[in-house]
Amino acid sequence: MKNTLFRLFFLLLFVVSVQAQEASYFYATMDSNDASKLKVALPNEIDIIATKGNQSAVYIARTAALKLQESLLLHGPGYVFKSSLEKALFSLDTKAINQQNKIVNFTITEDVLVNQAINMVNSDNIEDDILTLEGYGTRYHTKTSAAQAVYDLKDKWEAMALAAGRTDVSVRIFNHSNTNMPSVIMTIEGAETPDDYIIIGGHIDSINSSNNNDAPGADDNASGIATIIEISRVLFDMDFIPKKTVEFMAFAAEEIGLVGSSEIAEEYSYNNINVEAYVQFDMTNYAGSSSDVYITTDTYNSASLNNFLIDLIGHYNSSGDHQFTYGTTACNYGCSDHFSWAQQGYDAAFPFEAAFGQHNPFIHSSQDTYSMMGNTDHATKFAKLGLEFVIESAKSNALSVNDYLNNKMLLLMKDKQLTYRLVDLDDTILEVSIYDISGKKIVTHSSNRQSGIISLQNLDLGFYIAVFNFNKNGYIAKKFILR
Ligand SMILES: [Zn+2]
Repeated sequence: MKNTLFRLFFLLLFVVSVQAQEASYFYATMDSNDASKLKVALPNEIDIIATKGNQSAVYIARTAALKLQESLLLHGPGYVFKSSLEKALFSLDTKAINQQNKIVNFTITEDVLVNQAINMVNSDNIEDDILTLEGYGTRYHTKTSAAQAVYDLKDKWEAMALAAGRTDVSVRIFNHSNTNMPSVIMTIEGAETPDDYIIIGGHIDSINSSNNNDAPGADDNASGIATIIEISRVLFDMDFIPKKTVEFMAFAAEEIGLVGSSEIAEEYSYNNINVEAYVQFDMTNYAGSSSDVYITTDTYNSASLNNFLIDLIGHYNSSGDHQFTYGTTACNYGCSDHFSWAQQGYDAAFPFEAAFGQHNPFIHSSQDTYSMMGNTDHATKFAKLGLEFVIESAKSNALSVNDYLNNKMLLLMKDKQLTYRLVDLDDTILEVSIYDISGKKIVTHSSNRQSGIISLQNLDLGFYIAVFNFNKNGYIAKKFILR
């Protein structure tokens, strides 16, 4: 009897403590079928407030959200966090749901630069960055190590931009309302139309459904972040100067409902920023299907942007050293940060590592480690696709260093005099223009010869770009340091 009373007492204590835990509710949107199933399984932990099409606005307990995440075996959280009832209801009505996307009018014209870029992709860098991110142990959004990963990436990007001598690059922290974890954004300001934006991004947080102190998140999503970092490195190493503004984003707190990306996309929309296209990199390194890159065809994605990615693969990757294949798949809900951009009416796309269901089975667990993948062959393909996308959609300013003549054009800088000379090339240089790194033309020099000397006595020390216009061979641009 005494024993039974004791048990009853402990049972009561247990129920009370579980209820205290479950008191944490929030608003969200999710697939309406998932919402209905949860309502049957956990009637006290979810309220379905409204349903439109296949989406429901709900008020849900964190525990139920976690069960959803575990049971669906999906990528991503399975729901989209909303900070208020109004936002949850509003998002059922946004233009993004079943929207007719704008037609992106990108073209494929930059073969020289793109081929240079994809030759420069280095899988070792991607490996290093995945291991670095895995090394934080956990990047769950509440952990200090998650914020540290963000600040460290800011430092890394700033160092890369500095080493490349770029004054058109800035890196900023974006602080959020619904998580303490920040996001980080690197911007290369467009040299010609800086109000037009091309954005690539992915989430830098991680999760482990059973223990958030151990959430290595190597594929989900250190791989996507490492892919984005490698894209940026190549662009810096080739001195790519875009016509449009290009941004690289690493988002906080995707795993608890796209929190970081939705706050950023909302702010961009509120400020009427013209994001021409957004491409998501979330899980790039597990080759689970017969093809390499899977273009997601969910209705909120931009069909024309998807077609552009497919055209890029057809143009640059159908044969040769950089050959890879693609397929299509759908995740059937707002499964990653691109949905945040689509919800604001922007054209978004999400090339994924495999067909859904065949993707990395170790995500959201302590086993999502680099050693489970072993190499970065798969992510390397995504880095190439990302470079093709950024270079072709943002286009290069004439100042981009574009030296396809390789060693046939020699430059020598001495005593603030620039000597140039063509070697083994039957052509003449009509004119040489010198630009500063901000894109301002500061010297025009008529040549009409194969070689010459330009005096730059009046210029400050630093990085400059010399553009050589040829009689037959178009132009090349070369960066030089005045010292
Ligand atoms: Zn992810």
